[in-house]
Amino acid sequence: MPGKVLIIDDIATNRITLKVRLAAACYQVAQAATAAEGLTLARQMSPDLILCPGNLPDMDAAGLARALRADPVLGETPLIVVTGDHDPATRLAMLEAGADDILLKPLCDDLFLARLRSLLRHRHTHEEEQLRDGAGQVLGLAEAAAGFDTPGTVLLVAETADAALKWKSLLAHSMPDRLTAVGYVDAMRHIARSDSPDAIGLALPGDRPEEGLKLLTEFAAHPATRDAGVIVALAAARPQLAAEALDRGAADVLGDGALSREMALRLRRQILRKRRIDSLRRSMRAGLRAAVIDPLTGLHNRRYAMPRLARMAQEAALSGGDCAVMVVDIDHFKMVNDSFGHAAGDAILSRTGQILRDSMGPDALVARLGGEEFLIAMPGTGPDAAHMAAQRLCRLIAATLFHVPGQPRPIRITVSIGVALASDSPESSQGGSVGPAAMLDRADRALYGAKAHGRNRVTLCKRRPAA
Ligand code: GH3
Ligand code: MG
Ligand code: MG
Repeated sequence: MPGKVLIIDDIATNRITLKVRLAAACYQVAQAATAAEGLTLARQMSPDLILCPGNLPDMDAAGLARALRADPVLGETPLIVVTGDHDPATRLAMLEAGADDILLKPLCDDLFLARLRSLLRHRHTHEEEQLRDGAGQVLGLAEAAAGFDTPGTVLLVAETADAALKWKSLLAHSMPDRLTAVGYVDAMRHIARSDSPDAIGLALPGDRPEEGLKLLTEFAAHPATRDAGVIVALAAARPQLAAEALDRGAADVLGDGALSREMALRLRRQILRKRRIDSLRRSMRAGLRAAVIDPLTGLHNRRYAMPRLARMAQEAALSGGDCAVMVVDIDHFKMVNDSFGHAAGDAILSRTGQILRDSMGPDALVARLGGEEFLIAMPGTGPDAAHMAAQRLCRLIAATLFHVPGQPRPIRITVSIGVALASDSPESSQGGSVGPAAMLDRADRALYGAKAHGRNRVTLCKRRPAA
């Protein structure tokens, strides 16, 4: 089922004609005769799209658009007005009120269905974004919608640079945004060397549209432009061509006679949409980072470390090499907190993490397991090298003076380290892969040994008995 469409129209024959067309294209259709009835039904069924005429008995299309946009549930539901009214000012008023498009009667079937497809495509992307946005808000990562009304960047592309410049001067009065004008031949070159535009206006001549259509496909595929909404301006009303442009990814198509103000309004809408996508991407990236990074030390956390350790152990088993894992635990850390306060404890944890990271090579994984425990995994490292590296760390931490804000004297701490080797595990001797949890468990047991023997020392996990 491609989607649910709600037809609001007081004339039954209009509803039936539209319903037949939509049902033939496999849409699920619901009907209402008045705006009030339509709004009630829409709240119940959450349609993917609403169709209405220019006027209903209880409200005109602009009024319905305003009611939808003000509704907390239906605010984003696309509205298409199907009307016989060609007046550009009325059209603009409906768009300004929040209608997504106005299709003129008699309806061209191909254009009508292409327009529906394009709006539903955008709606599904939008729903996905909402879902991510919701997850972001739960994680406290959503950005404030600030800066959405700052000027955007718009690329205007026409057959020749001259035509593009003329277009730019027409639009410049009605847009606060940075407009750049280029001819077809320069468009992709310009995109390759400039910042990504927020929206693109593409003028398509009715007689030889091939080159422009090719550009449209390139915009949809190019990483710098695929998120920018493209508004196609047709030199003449060509419904088939408009349908093709929509199916190739245009966000909107404007026919001949559309006012510059309509073009400006549609470009601005695309700018806002692009800003929203960019901000969601940023919060998604921040969310992914937050999921694997420990905020206090900036090191990777256990969630990230365990699968990494598993891969290292697996690679060691495959290559016949080894892999060492250390658990580094700060000694008597509870006493540090008790004597100097939790904030001082935090500062020491953070600095210890930094020292461990800085003193290991780029191949080593350094992570905070939790509390005052760190994990260090070293690929391609045997028992002797691991032992030496751990002893070096012990000495380094013991020699460090921790200067903590609010503390008159530097604080000293020590660490104990337990070391385990992938080659020491029973699985390894049978040629099997070594589980990260088992390896960590053996390093932990070695750590207890180091604690029991007086702390500030390194203990290697007992080697397995020779077969
Ligand atoms: P041991 O030498 O046997 O390891 O003794 P310990 O005191 O270091 O170990 P214990 O497990 O008894 O206490 C660990 C302490 O670490 C208790 C806890 O309050 C503290 N701690 C855990 N996470 C944090 C943190 O994020 N910040 C601070 N400041 N303290 C933490
Ligand atoms: Mg501990
Ligand atoms: Mg401890």
